[in-house]
Amino acid sequence: MAILVTGGAGYIGSHTCVELLNNDYDIVVLDKLSNSKIDSVNRVKEITGKDFIFEQVDLLEKKKLEKIFTEQKIDAVVHFAGLKAVGESVEKPLVYYRNNVIGAIVLCEVMKNFGVKKLVASSSATVYGTAEQMPISEDTPLGVTNPYGRTKLMVEEILRDLYVSDNAWSIALLRYFNPAGAHESGLIGEDPNGIPTNLIPYITQVAIGKLKEVSIFGNDYPTKDGTGIRDYIHITDLAKGHLKALDKVIGSSGIEAYNLGTGKGYSVQEVIAAFEKASGKKIPYKMVNRRPGDIAVSYADPAKAKRELGWEAEKDFDEMCRDAWKWQRNKMNGFY
Ligand code: NAD
Ligand code: UDP
Repeated sequence: MAILVTGGAGYIGSHTCVELLNNDYDIVVLDKLSNSKIDSVNRVKEITGKDFIFEQVDLLEKKKLEKIFTEQKIDAVVHFAGLKAVGESVEKPLVYYRNNVIGAIVLCEVMKNFGVKKLVASSSATVYGTAEQMPISEDTPLGVTNPYGRTKLMVEEILRDLYVSDNAWSIALLRYFNPAGAHESGLIGEDPNGIPTNLIPYITQVAIGKLKEVSIFGNDYPTKDGTGIRDYIHITDLAKGHLKALDKVIGSSGIEAYNLGTGKGYSVQEVIAAFEKASGKKIPYKMVNRRPGDIAVSYADPAKAKRELGWEAEKDFDEMCRDAWKWQRNKMNGFY
């Protein structure tokens, strides 16, 4: 049984490949390396001591995708490939719709033609838009506020239509909260291009001295210390969620959405304090205005994933900070 992992060289994909290989799945990894490096593929091989096929292919190149399905016996797909920067999606909506929406359509067309109907797909808590009720369960009304979020919601809807058209499909839509941290080995982790837009890679770059200070986007939210609260989930826990979802889609048919989060929220100030502890460094910060589009609080109700997939986050917040810091230090030492 081989699993095709699209976007498998990326942050979440590479950690999921480690878990798949450690659980004796054969994998074929496809990635065009637009937001990742071949090093992460090699690191996955190093961590697991296992080899696999890597294809540097753009999902939109249908003929090349068909060639992979012709040459490999693909039984199921875990689909990560996509663009994910909210700000960039506002500037380049067509690029996002083409890559994320058409990419998913091309993938499903090829899967359908080859009779492969088992799919685990990356969605995002961004599909809940400005949800006000916490925690967020899967039946919270959906609503998106930017093109990136819209691509995620569109793909969810396309996949639901696909299932209605043919009940043999089996699809899990995984709505991630805030993935963070790195593999415990410190060999793979998040590797953002340019200045990070997400809080945790920004903090680790301040801690290492690459950036001067963290800007806290708003301290007037109705939260315990006025700063935004999010549900940060260790990347290895998130990766393991994909294996549970894969078990589910392989063993049944249907389409279901699952929140992958911890159910706990941490404020920006708590995150900074935890990183000071993990790194032993002072992390300077300043308060600035709220970032447009941000909500005060977001954390998951992960009960459905526990009930139906048998999955729940196991690693704690401090471990996540330690692993993110280890990865950052290794990179700075010229390790990557
Ligand atoms: P990432 O950028 O690290 O990985 C995505 C990978 O997909 C990259 O390696 C990129 O080169 C590849 N890719 C993009 N378009 C492609 C295409 N057309 N053909 C082939 N390869 C392509 O991102 P990530 O953080 O690992 O995210 C994976 C998925 O999870 C994405 O769909 C993203 O939208 C979703 N997601 C991420 C987060 C997050 O905070 N990281 C949160 C929610 C959802
Ligand atoms: N944030 C911040 N400074 C930064 C980046 C993020 O204060 O440089 C805050 C942001 O307002 C939110 C939280 O940190 O409350 C997490 O933001 P991130 O961009 O990592 O994830 P999001 O939940 O927005 O997808």
